[in-house]
Amino acid sequence: KQHTLAVIKPDAMEEHRDTILEEIRGRGFTVTQLKETVLSREMAEEFYREHREKPFFDQLVDFMSRGPSLMLVLTKENAVEQWRAMMGPADPEEAKETSPNTLRARFAADILHNSVHGSSNEQHAEEKIRFVFGDISTD
Ligand code: ATP
Ligand code: MG
Repeated sequence: KQHTLAVIKPDAMEEHRDTILEEIRGRGFTVTQLKETVLSREMAEEFYREHREKPFFDQLVDFMSRGPSLMLVLTKENAVEQWRAMMGPADPEEAKETSPNTLRARFAADILHNSVHGSSNEQHAEEKIRFVFGDISTD
């Protein structure tokens, strides 16, 4: 089975954390690792380093380090794609149009504060899982 890294971002922690976790399990993902953490600015910069040249990078780092996030390793057949399908597109306005049942359509305030993260491919998943959880076994 495949693993992916999922994050419940700071904007969703107070109101939606439990609902999101329930729905993750309800869709047949196994939560293999789980850790609540406040990312430092340095960790948030490293976590999103692929975006360091983007105009929204500083805002993204501020947002991700403003409070607790829930870091999760999700395991399932096709986990990377399945979790991204459950999140929906980054922009909640687009999500509401195209996929109203997704987490971002339901919970995200805007394209920055969009409630959840998911690795975009298997290589990123492995890399980010190692970054967040260290060299743990997820077999
Ligand atoms: P994520 O990587 O968080 O799972 P994603 O892969 O759907 O989301 P990316 O393009 O990788 O989207 O963007 C990473 C994150 O940066 C987004 O989830 C969002 O929080 C923020 N972001 C993306 N585009 C914008 C934008 N135009 N303005 C502000 N913030 C943005
Ligand atoms: Mg991404």
